[in-house]
Amino acid sequence: MKEYKTKEQKRKFYDSGEWKQLRSKIKKRDNYECQECKRNGFVRIDTNEYSESARRKKIQLVVHHIKELEHHPELALDEDNLETVCVDCHNKEHGRDFGKKQPNKWQHDEKW
Ligand SMILES: [Zn+2]
Ligand SMILES: [Zn+2]
Repeated sequence: MKEYKTKEQKRKFYDSGEWKQLRSKIKKRDNYECQECKRNGFVRIDTNEYSESARRKKIQLVVHHIKELEHHPELALDEDNLETVCVDCHNKEHGRDFGKKQPNKWQHDEKW
C-alpha cells in the first residue's frame, strides 16, 4: 500500500493526474460550495448578484480529506472521504488540532 507520510510523498500525490481529476469531480459533486459553511448555515455570497463563474472565483475552495491522508492512505482516493471546503474552513478544520500557532501549516497542502 502507498504511504503519504513525507512532504515529498504528499506532493507527489497532490500532483498526480488521478488526484486532479478526482478533485474537480468532488468540487462539481459538492456544487462548488463549501460543505462546512453550508452545514453552519452560512451563505457567503449573494448568488443573485454574481454570475456562477464570478461566484466560483470569489471563494477559494480546497478538497479536504476528512480522514487524513497521512493516517488513512487507503482512503486517499475514496470519494466518501473527500469534501469541498473553503480555505477558511479548511484552516479551522486542521487548526483545531494544532492550535493557533501554526495557521499556515496547511496552506500549501491540498490546494494543489
Ligand atoms: Zn467554509
Ligand atoms: Zn484538509
